[in-house]
Amino acid sequence: MRVIRIIDDSNFVTGKERNGGNYKYEEVAILDESGVILRGEHTTSAEFQFCTFCGSFGCTECTWYHPSYEMDNLAKRTQHEPTEMS
Ligand SMILES: [Zn+2]
Repeated sequence: MRVIRIIDDSNFVTGKERNGGNYKYEEVAILDESGVILRGEHTTSAEFQFCTFCGSFGCTECTWYHPSYEMDNLAKRTQHEPTEMS
């Protein structure tokens, strides 16, 4: 199993990270040995209603994880790497 974590804190400002417009975003995905995404989650420091499946504010429609474009690319890249034996 592999874990890929994407942290976007480029816009993060302490004191504004909950409702001030400067949020941190994080996406974590679990992959199997062949690089296929099994499950994942989006999170944010913002206090607003946030969809952990697709990473959008205000979304209540998702029922499973949607990897971001970036995560999809990272996952595909691991498929060409040798498998870690840990
Ligand atoms: Zn959603």
